[in-house]
Amino acid sequence: MTILCYHSVQPDWGSPLAMHPTTFEEHCDWLSKHRRVVPLAEAVDRLGHFGQLPRGIACLTFDDGFTGVRDYALPILTRYRLPATVFLVAKTLTEAGHPVDWVDTPAGYELTTLNVEQVLEMQSAGVSFQSHSDAHLDLTSLTFDDCVRDLRQSRELLESLLGRDVPLLAYPRGRHHEGVRAAAAAAGYTHAFTLPERRERAGPYAVPRVGLYRGNSVRNLQIKSSYPYLALRTSSAFRLGQRLNRAARRSRGGAP
Ligand SMILES: [Zn+2]
Repeated sequence: MTILCYHSVQPDWGSPLAMHPTTFEEHCDWLSKHRRVVPLAEAVDRLGHFGQLPRGIACLTFDDGFTGVRDYALPILTRYRLPATVFLVAKTLTEAGHPVDWVDTPAGYELTTLNVEQVLEMQSAGVSFQSHSDAHLDLTSLTFDDCVRDLRQSRELLESLLGRDVPLLAYPRGRHHEGVRAAAAAAGYTHAFTLPERRERAGPYAVPRVGLYRGNSVRNLQIKSSYPYLALRTSSAFRLGQRLNRAARRSRGGAP
């Protein structure tokens, strides 16, 4: 089993990014009966050669921090007692804010992201929050220094808001290359998550996830979360990144 990536859960946005709550509930029902869903932070140290989790284990993650996750997914997650991680775009939580300007399929109304109060409330309810960069830019288009700055800024802002470490990063749109992976390490993350659309090399800074989209049934979930599906999208160089990973842990040292 593997790490699942959702975005929003809401009925009225017909985007691939927004799963209907009814479908999401079916997913949670199936996962609660057939898998052991563990917190992402607990899972990262158990990743195998292809970045996969041991058989029978799954993680739930949500990118972008849409309010739909609070309004529609959280009650379902709570009912099924499933842990989840939300990757936040740090700038959306600043006083100036940041609009949702990164989606390809607008809703026809203004899409909203979680505010600080809602994030803290969800954190108290057991939801974990990690970084989805500072402004949801395509990190592969930035210089190395700009990329480090963006990622460090996001981590520091989130750590001060949440009052806890933020060692995990999900690349916006899953996009990354060697420089982006090195920047993630330099910015103090221990692991970073992707969304491979084709075969790519897995590693601590390229941990593969599987995207679940509107219209994906429980059968789709079963197929997408199977080991062969993930193995087709990754190659077996997972351990090559361990040195970078250890360096990042060292660089975090006594950081707050
Ligand atoms: Zn995103």
